[in-house]
Formats: sequence, structure tokens, C-alpha cells
Amino acid sequence: MLSLVYKSAWDVALEERPQPQITQENQVLVRIHATGVCGTDLGIVSGKYHAKSSIILGHESAGEVVQVGDRVTTLQVGDRVVIDPTYYCGQCNMCRTGRQNHCLHKSTTETGVSSDGTFTDYYVTEDRFLYKLADHVSYAEATLTEPLSCMLTGINQIQLLPNFRTIILGAGPIGMLYSYALASKGVSGSIVDISQDRLHIAGAIAPERWDTHNSFESALTHISPSDHQVDLIVDTTGAVGTTVLSNLAHGGYLMLVGLRDGVSSFNPKEVVDRSLKIIGSIDSLGTFATAHYMIERNLIPASKLITHTFALQDYEEAFQTLGCNISSGTLTPSSNAIKVVLQST
Ligand SMILES: [Zn+2]
Ligand SMILES: [Zn+2]
Repeated sequence: MLSLVYKSAWDVALEERPQPQITQENQVLVRIHATGVCGTDLGIVSGKYHAKSSIILGHESAGEVVQVGDRVTTLQVGDRVVIDPTYYCGQCNMCRTGRQNHCLHKSTTETGVSSDGTFTDYYVTEDRFLYKLADHVSYAEATLTEPLSCMLTGINQIQLLPNFRTIILGAGPIGMLYSYALASKGVSGSIVDISQDRLHIAGAIAPERWDTHNSFESALTHISPSDHQVDLIVDTTGAVGTTVLSNLAHGGYLMLVGLRDGVSSFNPKEVVDRSLKIIGSIDSLGTFATAHYMIERNLIPASKLITHTFALQDYEEAFQTLGCNISSGTLTPSSNAIKVVLQST
């Protein structure tokens, strides 16, 4: 089967790989139909995020069940499913203390990072990681389940109130999905991006009562003209670090979800004295079923968030659309795409 394989930074290629086989009675063989291109994939390809050499990339995916192990009772051949790619063992210290997204086996089991992913035709996983799709949900739309689940995990760490004054930095897929995750809890706010093109798309698909701004200052002035302070800042860009702490109200939250290296300093006394919270969040933890529900019930405009689809063979063009030029080895912020999906037919 044709697979998008990562070798080293800027060295990825389509290669023939053997089809994976079911080896345990609780496993299911899925024919992959669609996989979203994630910021993590761009990070891996550009050498900014570590992945194991020679693995197949891809982790936000959906497909059709083509074979089930003898002990699988909840799924049958022909079922359309979305895949929760966050494997966890359930036995290690992290799993037994409610931190399955940090399972100690992650260094060898993380789909599309440390174990073979879904930018290919077939994938084997356990039945517990599969969720059936309603007929009206397309495979492409279903690929948003995993990233949405990560956003829901992020906001579960905040004691949210509907009247939180909120700013999201970055109008990419993560920023847009955060706006919908927050809107589902009654929160409204502003989305900031420096790209006019992206703001244009974001403005058209943002949740009700959310608006868009081309600078953080503009959003602050709009939300809090008198004191320039807000209760929650979600930074999906990884660019601001703790420089925005002074714009948090007492007890406010800074949520950091942009995977980007950097050094940021802050005054610990300010954090203590003003009860500020700096929170990081990665992957999903106990929220996949809710994300699945939200997509099935059209609580997020999945089809509008997907601005481009490509065939797997056209992966270079797909990555290019997101600003990742594989042949020249350059990564620049893209301005006219939100979510890009690769489809295998
Ligand atoms: Zn992802
Ligand atoms: Zn574990």
C-alpha cells in the first residue's frame, strides 16, 4: 500500500509498505479514507518536532472497517468509523492516574509520530479506539474529531464561565476549533490573526457572538476598552509565550497550545499575587466521544473548516497549501487554508 513515510527533516516520500495485519482478537483493520494534515505533521516534516524515522505519518483519520478480530463485538465489516489515534495502555503510572494522554508507552505507540500512522490505505487498531460514524458525516468531516477532542481536553482544564472575556491567538484550525469548543460552553470572544485572508475565512465561519481582529491590541480594546484585560487567552501560535500575562485579569488563564520551541520569562510573584494560571495541553483525554457527538450533531461547521482536500499522491501540494514547501525545505505561515485533508479512494 502506498504510504507517506517520514525519514528525516524535509525527507518524506511515498513508499510501498505491506498492509498491516490483525494480530490480536480485539483488533480491527480499517481501510483509511481521509486523514487531516495537522500542525504536528508540519512540525515533523520541518524538523521542529521529533518523530521516529521511517514511520508512516498521519493521525487524524476516518475509514471503513474491513476486518475484525474474533473478540470484536461492537463493530462489523462495512461500518464507517473515526479513529482515536491516542493509544494508551491503561496499566502504566500515567494511565492509572488519569493522564492517559501521557501514557508511558507513547514513545513507541503514538500514531503517526512513533508508530505507523494513517497517510496510507490500511491501519490496525483496537476496537476501543474506534467510533461509528452516522451516515451524514463524511470521512473528511470526521477527521476533525481528533483535533476537536484535543481542544475539549484543553478547556476541561479551565474553570470556565460563560462571561469570561476571551481572546484566541491564531485563526488556523486549532484556533477555530477552540472557538467552537468554547462557544459550546457559552463563551464568546475574539479571534486574532495577522493574515487578512485567514481572517476573512475565520470571520465567515466563526461561532455566533465571536468576532475577528488583526491584532491582539485591537481585540483587547474591543473587549475591554477601559483596562485592556481579559480572563482567558488561548495562544495557538506559540509566539507570545508569557508576554501577555499583564493583559490577564486577576485569576485569569493563559492557555498555551502552540507547539513551538522558545524561552519565555515571567515574574513568579505576579503569577502568585494575581492568582494567574499558565496551562499547557496536548492530545486528548476522555473527550473523544464528546467531539464525536459535536461533529455528528453539526455543533461545529466541519465542512466549512475544511478548505482543501487532496489525493494522498498530491501530498506535496497539500503541505504547500499549508505553507510547508517540502522541495525547498521552507515553512511559512499559510494564509488561505484552514484545514487540509488527504483522501485515499
Ligand atoms: Zn493532530
Ligand atoms: Zn499507559
